Amino acid sequence: MTLPRVRLFLLGGTITMKAGPDSASGVVPTVDARALCQAVPGLDSVAYVDARTDKMIASGNLTYGHAFDLAAEIRLAEKNGDVDGFVIVQGTDTLEEMAFLLDCLLDIKRPVVVTGAMRNPAQLSSDGPANILAAVTCAATMEMGLAGVVVVLNDDIHAARYVSKRHTGNVGAFQSPNNGPVGRIVEGEAHLFSVPVTGPKIAIPKSGDIPNIALIKASYGDDGYLLKLLETSDCDGLVIEAFGAGHLPEKYLDSLDRLASRIPVVLSSRAGAGHIFRKTYGYKGAEIDLIKRGLISSGILDGLKAKILLTLLIMSGVDPRASQYWQ
Ligand code: ASP
Repeated sequence: MTLPRVRLFLLGGTITMKAGPDSASGVVPTVDARALCQAVPGLDSVAYVDARTDKMIASGNLTYGHAFDLAAEIRLAEKNGDVDGFVIVQGTDTLEEMAFLLDCLLDIKRPVVVTGAMRNPAQLSSDGPANILAAVTCAATMEMGLAGVVVVLNDDIHAARYVSKRHTGNVGAFQSPNNGPVGRIVEGEAHLFSVPVTGPKIAIPKSGDIPNIALIKASYGDDGYLLKLLETSDCDGLVIEAFGAGHLPEKYLDSLDRLASRIPVVLSSRAGAGHIFRKTYGYKGAEIDLIKRGLISSGILDGLKAKILLTLLIMSGVDPRASQYWQ
């Protein structure tokens, strides 16, 4: 039997981290892609894995450039037809952002799976090997190509558009609060429960300046001090995580009016799940008023994802108001 060919790109993260000679100074990226795969029992009977060490960094240091390069490499490999599925292994801190970025950029039919680990290799019950086996299993299952980019940890399969990291240390940290996982690894096989809705694809931006997008969270009793500072900044866009279904204090409104007349301002929610409303609340600073003032509703996207989408739209010269992207 010919095994599926899976290309694995390692970017770093806890899954690679071990203590140096002085164990008290903590763990740092150490284990390369090949060694990582060798530590996974049974991996070679699931797929032929072409393991590549791309970066060895903490995921907070990943950039848009890294994601664009990766997307271009994946697209090229798909075009050449020599790879059946792709796995990206990275730190979990920004894993949801990388997955969403790739999902926005990749219009391909092959499975693309992002994974990492919550426990480093030296910890008891380190989850890295199981997550790599699950991710490769998923990438080797052609049906998973229907799901867009997915995130696999703890045997759950999440759609990139809906997943977020909800815990600092738990191996079940990745969740999709709106709709739950779209699949699961069961007895060594990847099962897809439902095909998630994904947004329209965006062309991979050519290299260029990354727009400065501010991301601000509304908070109790706040007087809008940060918004005032932003008014005199050269930022190219703003995402504001509002209360509940899209509500902000009246004290924010003058600044928001001035900002929205100059740059795109996207309204998302700090609630962690659910849509921004469009037509329920009628008071000043509620969704009807804010949308009238020119704010762009993020739909179901949280602030982190809204920031990525706004960045990509600006970079690609697409009108940030194009509503088909904000569902
Ligand atoms: N700090 C690590 C990183 O994101 C955390 C992890 O991998 O879980 O690189």
